Amino acid sequence: MTETAIRPRPGILDIAPYVGGAASIDGANRSIKLSANENPFGPSDKAVQAYRDHAGLLGLYPESHAPVCQAIADVHGLEAERIVLGNGSDELISLLTKAYAGEGDEVLFSSHGFLMYRLSAMACGATPVTAPERDLTTDADAMIAAMTDRTKLVFVANPNNPTGTMIGNGELVRLADALPPQALMIIDAAYAEFLRPSERDGAEELVRARENVAMTRTFSKIYGLAALRLGWCYAPEHVVSVLHRVRGPFNVTAPALAVGEAAIRDQTYVEDCRVKNEVWRDWLSREIEDAGLPVVPSKGNFLLVEGGDRVAALDEHLKSRGLIARRVDAYGLPHHIRISIGDEDACKMVAEAIRAFTGAG
Ligand code: PMP
Repeated sequence: MTETAIRPRPGILDIAPYVGGAASIDGANRSIKLSANENPFGPSDKAVQAYRDHAGLLGLYPESHAPVCQAIADVHGLEAERIVLGNGSDELISLLTKAYAGEGDEVLFSSHGFLMYRLSAMACGATPVTAPERDLTTDADAMIAAMTDRTKLVFVANPNNPTGTMIGNGELVRLADALPPQALMIIDAAYAEFLRPSERDGAEELVRARENVAMTRTFSKIYGLAALRLGWCYAPEHVVSVLHRVRGPFNVTAPALAVGEAAIRDQTYVEDCRVKNEVWRDWLSREIEDAGLPVVPSKGNFLLVEGGDRVAALDEHLKSRGLIARRVDAYGLPHHIRISIGDEDACKMVAEAIRAFTGAG
């Protein structure tokens, strides 16, 4: 590199850039990507049709976010004016961090929390702070003990990636009650649609009732629209007005607006995907445990499997069968591997591969 006196702000060069899940295996002509928690069935036909219908309009700037916000509000029983759209929920996480945290401030999350919280905090010059987990699950007491008068943001992914675990409404309420006055809690509900109604954490009601809790959601997971980049935040009015000030005027593309509206209105498709995920996730979890590897109980569309000292060999073994999983060293979990729930064939291939690996038959 040539010498230059141009430098980013302190801390930026300490960031280890986010590496997405691998999409192919060197030398293999066919592989199944189980490394990014995508929906194996892709988006609903109605969403794809909306994308095609938009092809003739690509010369125009995106229009109002209001119709999509209204569609989300209708489906979830929320107030449309409290919803802000983002270029994926990653953008909303970044914008919230940029708006609320800077040098000298702390951004708190659990020790195996989603990586973007750390990266976003560092990008803003804020200090990432982690609280230990209990059984690979957010520990409300540890989080509360880690709150200080410098804590500006508290992120709780519920369910969390990559652990798949979650806390209940009572724990969320306890966290919200314990927040210092200057802190905002963000419940990252990227995987909320995979929950049964009885498993939900009541994040929406918490946001509605409080000035210090917001929730982020995404179209990348159950909606099968990761390529489109669309997420949303449901937040108190004062946070909404801040997000509208810091977001780009055209942060969400016009195709994303058109497709998002069609996708959210197709809840039959969402429920179908939720049921398939639950059936095959629970089946695969039992199969892997039967084969002799511990699995962290998951509420998401992925399983965190403990490979112990043989995790690298397990990863290679899966790859040799065309199965791409995700090592999670970057999350402080060097002995685990995360496997997304694919379709029936993919789950059966994973089960068979793991049985062959452990010698369980
Ligand atoms: N939160 C969590 C917990 C995630 O796992 C992900 C995706 N890996 C995101 C947020 C971001 O998703 P997107 O930007 O695609 O909406």
